[in-house]
Amino acid sequence: MNDFPIENLPYGAFARDEGVRLGVAIGDRIFDLRAGAEAKLFDGICAPAVLRAPSLNPLLAEEPRVWHAVRERLQSLLRGDLDASLYVDRATAAMRLPVEVGDYVDFYSSERHARNLGRIFRPNAEPLLPNWKWMPVGYHGRAGSIVVDGTPVHRPNGQRKPPDADVPVFGPSTMLDIELEIGFVTGREAIFGLVLVNDWSARDIQAWEYQPLGPFLGKSFATTISPWVVTLDALAPFRIAPHEQDPPPLPYLRVENDCAYDIDLAVDLRSAAMRDAGLPPVTIARTNARELYWSMEQQLAHARSNGARLRPGDLFASGTISGSDPASYGSLIELTWRGTKPLSLPTGEQRAFLENGDDVTLRAWCERDGLRLGFGACRGQIVPSQVAAGASSQER
Ligand code: CA
Repeated sequence: MNDFPIENLPYGAFARDEGVRLGVAIGDRIFDLRAGAEAKLFDGICAPAVLRAPSLNPLLAEEPRVWHAVRERLQSLLRGDLDASLYVDRATAAMRLPVEVGDYVDFYSSERHARNLGRIFRPNAEPLLPNWKWMPVGYHGRAGSIVVDGTPVHRPNGQRKPPDADVPVFGPSTMLDIELEIGFVTGREAIFGLVLVNDWSARDIQAWEYQPLGPFLGKSFATTISPWVVTLDALAPFRIAPHEQDPPPLPYLRVENDCAYDIDLAVDLRSAAMRDAGLPPVTIARTNARELYWSMEQQLAHARSNGARLRPGDLFASGTISGSDPASYGSLIELTWRGTKPLSLPTGEQRAFLENGDDVTLRAWCERDGLRLGFGACRGQIVPSQVAAGASSQER
C-alpha cells in the first residue's frame, strides 16, 4: 500500500550531497524541492530561498496562500515528466527533522485517556479533574528533545520512589512507555500540517516528580515525530464533525465547522527476540483521531487565548489518543493497566513496559472512497541508558 499518492504530497527533509534538503514524498520517491527551485520550477509562486532551505520553517512563515500555490504547482509538475535528477529513492534516503521546532506543547485531549489515567493514579476519586471539560489541558514540553523517526531512544535515568521505600533511588526507568499522539505544525497563525508523535514517557519518574508543577524529566528525554508533514490541504477529504461536547465550551472555544479528522492509528511492537526469530511486529493498539474530545483548532485557540504568539515551526501534540475499547488504548500504562495485565508477545515474552531492544512503530492513514493517504512511520528502538552525568555517576 502506498502512503504517498499525488493527493498527499507531504513535506520532509532529507540528506543529499552533504546537505539537508526539503522534499515531497510521491510514491516510492522524493521530489527534491531544492533542485526544483534551482530549475526555476516555482518561479512566480514562491521565493527560491524558501524551497532551498534545509527545514520547512521559511515556508511555514509564508502566508497560507503560498502554501496552497506551491501545492498546486507540485500537483501539476508531478503529473508530468520530470528529469530523473529531481528525484531520489525514498527507501534509501536519510530523513531529518522536517521542522526546526520552536516551542512544543503537549495536550491531554482524549477523554478516555484522561479517565484511564485518573482511574490508575487516583483510584478513589472522580477520574476527570474539574477543569478537563472546560479547556484543552496542556503543558509546555522540551523542543530540543524532538527527534525524527528511526532515532534510537536511550532509556532515561531518573529519580523514582518505589512504593515500599523510604527514600527515592536514581537509575534507569523501569516503566518506560509510549504515547500515541497526533501533532500539528503551525505557521504564523494557522495550522500547516500534521505529524505522528510518540511522546515517550517514564511513568516511574513522572509519578514521583509531577506534583505540583507537572511533567518534567519523565517526558523530556525524547519525543519522536514522523518525517513527513501531511498538510491540512491533503487531509481536507477526511475532515469530520467535531466531537460532541457537554457542557458546551466557553465562546472562545466554540467551533462549528468540521474540525475533527478521521485518521486511523496503530501501534506496532517488535522485541529483540521477535527480530531474532524473524517474526514480524505485532499490532498492540488500534484507534482513530476522531477520539479526541478537543479538536486541534480548539487546542490552538486555547494556546493563543492569553495573547501568546505563535511562531512558524511550533509543534502542538494532542496527548495520548485512546478509544473506549481496551485494544484502542494509546499507551502501555493503559493497555497493561499499570503493568497488572501484561501483554503476551508471539515469542511468549510478556510486556508491562518497554524493554531494551524493543522497537515501537506508530502508523497513521486515512481512507475514503478509494483514496488512501498515509503518514509514514514514527519508529524508535529502546537502547540502554547512557551513563548518567552528575556529581557522582550511579548505575543501577
Ligand atoms: Ca504526551
